[in-house]
Amino acid sequence: MQPDHILIHYGEISLKGKNRNYFEAQLIKNIKSQLNAFAPSSFEFVKKISGAILVKLNKNGLANIEEVEQAILHTFGIVNYSFATSLEQDLEKIKAFCWDLIKDKEFQTFRVTCQRSKKEFPLHSGEIEREIGGHLFEKFAGQKAVNLKNPDCECFVAIINDYALVSLDKKKGLGGLPVGTGGRALVLMSGGFDSPVAAFSVLRRGVTTRFVHFHSMPYTSKASLEKVTDLIKVLKKYQSSGILYSVPFADAQKEIMLSCPESLRIILYRRLMLKVAQEIASRERALALVTGDSIGQVASQTLENIFAVSQACDMPIFRPLIGTDKEEIMNIAKAIGTYDLSKLPHDDCCTRLMPKKPETRAKLLNVLEAEKALDIPKMIKEILGKVEKLKIQ
Ligand code: ATP
Ligand code: MG
Repeated sequence: MQPDHILIHYGEISLKGKNRNYFEAQLIKNIKSQLNAFAPSSFEFVKKISGAILVKLNKNGLANIEEVEQAILHTFGIVNYSFATSLEQDLEKIKAFCWDLIKDKEFQTFRVTCQRSKKEFPLHSGEIEREIGGHLFEKFAGQKAVNLKNPDCECFVAIINDYALVSLDKKKGLGGLPVGTGGRALVLMSGGFDSPVAAFSVLRRGVTTRFVHFHSMPYTSKASLEKVTDLIKVLKKYQSSGILYSVPFADAQKEIMLSCPESLRIILYRRLMLKVAQEIASRERALALVTGDSIGQVASQTLENIFAVSQACDMPIFRPLIGTDKEEIMNIAKAIGTYDLSKLPHDDCCTRLMPKKPETRAKLLNVLEAEKALDIPKMIKEILGKVEKLKIQ
């Protein structure tokens, strides 16, 4: 018998007290939309049962089980999941099925865990566990031991309204919180390794993300924008939307280059980026900006420079990778599917017109002084007039 259900468990959400219903409802909504995206028309229902969410697959879902699993693996808020088979509510049949399922598996210790949401079932969950566990123990004839606290293998039995569900092998989900429960943020995406990983970090905490990319076309090629678009396609697998603001930045860069000290160029670009990003964030009703900065990674990311850049805007700036080493960032990039894209060469707008000796310890006063040579409000207005909003499919 093939598994025809998925039992989904969530951890942190169950700690959310009065908001619990809201988190569960969002998770159910997200599971449905993820299933529709990865494996269209694959389920009969997604609903809450006691302490878990249950997905019933249809024929299509059974035929596309790998895609179904990918949908689950890309949904934040799922702590673990297991494929489960539905059976009649007949204890002997359940016992026989559990034995079939477990007999050839490699492990030392096991337990049976039961959850009974149908209170009319003649045995309560502890009794069911003992009945089935005892049966398996006998069949194993001393080859396997029971360990209730920390078993290698757990056989899970749920007695719900009309049937029983049996599953083995809980698998780990992404964890985190359902996207959509944590408000909205705007991610500054540059096409390197860091910003997609930074986006992933806030998505993981339930934050819906919008994206902004600054480019220097026609001085740089279209490739950087295409690269960012491709990265957003990957990140879109973790949330349903993929909205990118593409911002032409070449004219502003030229103005900064002509009017300001060379060593402060990058800092001034960054400050202007944040100011523009802040305006776009307001349009999107986003409450924070997100960047891929990590202390000391490059010249523009010394604490002094981060300080001078941060003063450019009032909105909170989240830097989820601030204390993360490059190697760890690369490993996350591999795990989430952005590594191979980020690895491709691209010309970032900031490496164009790169100063020979960029300032690594900028003083805010000097930066503000240099900025006086620019008509910042006018520049922001001009840039915003040329912004393109793209919907990545
Ligand atoms: P990444 O790997 O994300 O490219 P990086 O190590 O190259 O980062 P920087 O180029 O110093 O670091 O950029 C720091 C952060 O500033 C980026 O993570 C990103 O959030 C933002 N940023 C830089 N360039 C751009 C750009 N052209 N458009 C949007 N955001 C940018
Ligand atoms: Mg970069």
